[in-house]
Amino acid sequence: MLLLTPGPVTTRPEVRAATALDYAPWDLEFRALVSRVCDDLLAIAGGRPGEHVTLPLQGCGHFAMEAAVRSFVPPGGRLLVPMTGDYARRLARLAREAAREVTELPLQDDLPADPAQVEAALRADPAVSHLAIIYSETSTGVVHPVPALAAVAARLGRRVIVDAVSAFGALPLDLSALPAVDAVGFTANKCLESLPGAVFVTARTDRLRGARGRAGSWSLDLADLYEVSLDRPGSHRFTPAAGVIAALAVALDLYRAEGGQPARLARYRENQEALCDGMRALGLRPMLPPAVQGPIVVNIAAPDSPAWDLQRFVDRLKARGVLISNFGCTSEPSFRVGCIGAIGPADMRRAVAAMGEVMAEMGALPRRTAA
Ligand SMILES: *Cc1c(COP(=O)(O)O)cnc(C)c1O
Repeated sequence: MLLLTPGPVTTRPEVRAATALDYAPWDLEFRALVSRVCDDLLAIAGGRPGEHVTLPLQGCGHFAMEAAVRSFVPPGGRLLVPMTGDYARRLARLAREAAREVTELPLQDDLPADPAQVEAALRADPAVSHLAIIYSETSTGVVHPVPALAAVAARLGRRVIVDAVSAFGALPLDLSALPAVDAVGFTANKCLESLPGAVFVTARTDRLRGARGRAGSWSLDLADLYEVSLDRPGSHRFTPAAGVIAALAVALDLYRAEGGQPARLARYRENQEALCDGMRALGLRPMLPPAVQGPIVVNIAAPDSPAWDLQRFVDRLKARGVLISNFGCTSEPSFRVGCIGAIGPADMRRAVAAMGEVMAEMGALPRRTAA
């Protein structure tokens, strides 16, 4: 099965095979493995050892982002969230539910966030301590300019939290050049091409020191996790999805063998282009213009046909070995296809062919104008 969702993703058999063993999380060998994985992830984030640390958490991407918000934005503190789409809305909600104040900055969601607009919003509200940035907005497919936005925050003396959940490993990141960034959250099961259940936050150590208790949640307290990790490197404090971490170690070996971030980005870009070209050849329209379309996920406008039904399309496509999301993320009817995971452009072309066949079968293919 080709899993073409923007997480979880198609993984390689060697990655899945690593889960077929029993692991003891406190075992020194296992903890050494966790430390090695975290060090590798720190390097991928462009973090400087000592200045930054990568901390492992159990769970899904939202847990990493909630831990980052709770651990860095003080209770009663205020977060500016540029409203780039569904994932920005989710971040705003989890911050509010954690009793942090949120200022929403309304934006056009089909364009990269404009640093000048963010700068004006930060200047207008001196109570904002933190700017939240969704690196790759998984609802729209737009990539936002993290370095430019973080530079604006740095100039105005504000701190930054980055949701890199669907970006990490594929889009470039160099924390050593972004001193205003307190924390970046990400997961094993998107561009790192491993399984769900393990997430990480790469954070500044100076901002973690002395911050224990700020989170208001022991489970999500990154400062506590950091202090424990100084004594017991590679400890998660509580039981992790150990097999998932072992799978990630294999996935990271494959990542290096492929050529790291530039190679991964290039492959995803090829996947995305194969998809968009194939959809246009079928007479369908990607929702974003090519200049704005990111490499992670594509929304395709649904065929304008009474025969179109997303769930039926998804079911029939699945019978052909291709699985996509059964929900759209846009106000117009659309379907979304993830371009990430252990797949290449040939897989994507095969998926496009299957989509064309299913639409033809449903009688939903756009009527082609005579050539
Ligand atoms: C996937 C994703 C998340 C987290 O999703 P979970 O379902 O909690 O793993 C958060 N932010 C972005 C941008 C994402 O793509």
